[in-house]
Amino acid sequence: MMKRLRNVLFALALLSMINVNASKPVNAQTSNPALQVCKAGTANDVAKNLADAAKAPALSDAKAPVLYVVTTVAPLTNLMFNIGGNRVKIHGLIPEGADSHTYEPKLSDAEFIAKADLIFLNGLHLEEPTRKLAAANMKSTTKLIELGALTLDEKDWAFDFSFPKEKGDPNPHLWMNPLLALNYAKIMRDALAERDPAGAAYYKANYVALEARIQILDQAICDAVNTIPDKQRKLLTYHDSFAYFAPRYGMSVIGAIQPSDFTEPSMRDVAALIEQLKKEGVPAIFGSEVFPTRVLDQIAKEAGVRFVATLSDDDLPNQTGDRRYHSYLQMLVDDVKTITESLGGNAEILKIVLTDNLAGADTDVESSGK
Ligand SMILES: [Zn+2]
Repeated sequence: MMKRLRNVLFALALLSMINVNASKPVNAQTSNPALQVCKAGTANDVAKNLADAAKAPALSDAKAPVLYVVTTVAPLTNLMFNIGGNRVKIHGLIPEGADSHTYEPKLSDAEFIAKADLIFLNGLHLEEPTRKLAAANMKSTTKLIELGALTLDEKDWAFDFSFPKEKGDPNPHLWMNPLLALNYAKIMRDALAERDPAGAAYYKANYVALEARIQILDQAICDAVNTIPDKQRKLLTYHDSFAYFAPRYGMSVIGAIQPSDFTEPSMRDVAALIEQLKKEGVPAIFGSEVFPTRVLDQIAKEAGVRFVATLSDDDLPNQTGDRRYHSYLQMLVDDVKTITESLGGNAEILKIVLTDNLAGADTDVESSGK
């Protein structure tokens, strides 16, 4: 009898913790179209209408790069490569495979910062040590641009289990929402054109092509997610990088496992997640290569769901393969394919998305080593 009572109390305690991990919709009242739920069913038409616009424009006739630009994480570096093409020499300060949230730049990176004409950060507290190093070492004529703050109003910032409001650091993964990433590209286009007016038409042409590709991607994601059975459009990930993706595609983030200090979750949190998973009936949960997944593996086993370890928000695919496809667009397509198929949907429609870099292989893009 006592034992049963204890079990009931324990179950109640677990239930009371469930909301801790649930992330609320970003903001139902938002006026930002990137955070409104998409309408499914038009991807093929959109792709047909934009087929010409999505084609890669010709390279600039510049004999050598005209600008030197410093960026941080690989998705931003790749957006810059697609807008700047062969007119811009790019250096990414945060190496792929590093945890961008805790990364400390090397002091020697000051050398690249000091050369930069423009510096682009995500901001929103993602790469503070790098921002400080940049601010202290850049030329007085260099512009330091924080893309996140220029893209999302503070009222639309997402806070959740891994990025709690009390700490004041919003979830910084704006680029995981393609429409917000497109705004990053727009800011890059304008900043490059201002610094290099002779290249303005080239940057604009690149932007127009990228915009078409992202519009096709956005609609294809919408259609792919729409094939997932309603009740299974739920994401539980180790690293909490889908906070701005989920509202756009009608998915809910039911939890993230990584605590806000980027350590391992407590036994209490793990127990709550296992209980929640059993209740929600999701077929799979997700991890990524950058973050440890032992805990997630254990949660999946105990909850009887599949564990898929290949999502990415920083690392781009094909680092050692065909560098034409070492791209932001390919990362998104791979992630959505993984999510869709693991949750019982059909990802076929994603094949309509062009994912190669507009300027081809990105082998000339520099990166600080690990
Ligand atoms: Zn991240």
